[in-house]
Amino acid sequence: MAAPSTRPPSVDALARSLAGTGLPHPLLVDIARQAIVDGEPATAASRAAELSRTLLQPVVNASGVLLHTNLGRAPLAARPAAGATNLELDLATGDRGSRHAHCGRLVARLCRAEAGFIVNNNAAAVLLVLAALTRGREVLVSRGESVEIGGGFRVPEVLEQSGARLVDVGTTNRTRLADYRRAIDRPGSAVAAVLKVHPSNYRLEGFVEATSVTELALLPVPVVVDIGSGLLDAACPWLPDGPPRWVDGEPAARQTLESGAALVTFSGDKLLGGPQAGIVAGRADLIRACLDHPLARALRPGALVLAALQDTLLAYLRRDVVDHVPFWRMATTPVAELRRRAEAIVTRVAEQSGTRQFTVAGRPLQSLPGAGSLPGTTIESYGVALPGDHAAALRQASPPIVARVSEGMTLLDLRTVDEPDDRHLVSALAQLGDG
Ligand SMILES: *Cc1c(COP(=O)(O)O)cnc(C)c1O
Repeated sequence: MAAPSTRPPSVDALARSLAGTGLPHPLLVDIARQAIVDGEPATAASRAAELSRTLLQPVVNASGVLLHTNLGRAPLAARPAAGATNLELDLATGDRGSRHAHCGRLVARLCRAEAGFIVNNNAAAVLLVLAALTRGREVLVSRGESVEIGGGFRVPEVLEQSGARLVDVGTTNRTRLADYRRAIDRPGSAVAAVLKVHPSNYRLEGFVEATSVTELALLPVPVVVDIGSGLLDAACPWLPDGPPRWVDGEPAARQTLESGAALVTFSGDKLLGGPQAGIVAGRADLIRACLDHPLARALRPGALVLAALQDTLLAYLRRDVVDHVPFWRMATTPVAELRRRAEAIVTRVAEQSGTRQFTVAGRPLQSLPGAGSLPGTTIESYGVALPGDHAAALRQASPPIVARVSEGMTLLDLRTVDEPDDRHLVSALAQLGDG
């Protein structure tokens, strides 16, 4: 490993020799200095490569999980940043406008709500709605919906942070309207709202009873429904063939509001297919109260998020979701199309691997919606498989490829891969064969 010369190279010369990595000079200087201190100047290049891999970068999602939490959930169509925007400028009057005006109106139109606004994620949406509606008073939550979703969204804890006081109603498996009424009518009660939470990532089965939004709307307090995944409309009017089988039973924003919810909250980067965001739609007076709350400022999104979300929402209004929202394009690609791509990949890998016997083969697979949405639901898919666990080697490819390993096989599911990225799969698989 030691350099042949007796004198170690200068930090500056070594850093300059790594310029081809594209890393900024100060980072290369740090790497070069440390490599020299460790007596291993020859490792500087691999150290630089390691550091590059810690930076945020595009990866090929071949995991078959459409909304992969570790890969930023919904795949985003890249959108170059423009210069200035009318983020908070009313172009008609020249006065200060609201950053919630642009997307808020589109959300409201799509959900048939009076108004809408956007924060950084759904956890922030729930936090702000509860803080603004309750101002320290009580919120009723069914014991069956006092859940934890994904990495650390725990309903009782978010509620506590909002300053609201949680009042549990019903039991884990059954909660009826009468349970809510009793909590409202008890002496000394200070109930400001009911929170209904869609238990996205698990299912209760058997002797189970939940209270519908239609019933809850009979109560004298506003009903807030955290629907979670952001299906805008159960009829999926943006899909030529209507709702796919795998969205069955998923609560939708429009129908939840029609059933009498005062507000719905959901994520922008789950089934909506947009950027990370939290979306609130519903009654205009309640939304005003949310925007007037001091937390609104702390939770507000920036222009990049709003621009990406606006593109997504406009695609829904134009009904060209399948062409413009990558999540829906991927989710609805016919299996025959994925199979054709898989076969082309197998052929090309065999060509590039020369005479060596090659074991990559096409194979039917099952994709998952992901992000804790629709537990237990799968979408028929197709991909390629090869024996052994090559996940780590594929992550080292450029761009990195995220595969799934199951029963001793490495599986690459094409439903979650953009077709132009197939060539990256081909070259990475052909190189694996070389090893
Ligand atoms: C995913 C989810 C959340 C958390 O949403 P984030 O956008 O990740 O903050 C909250 N509630 C429900 C019901 C969810 O499904």
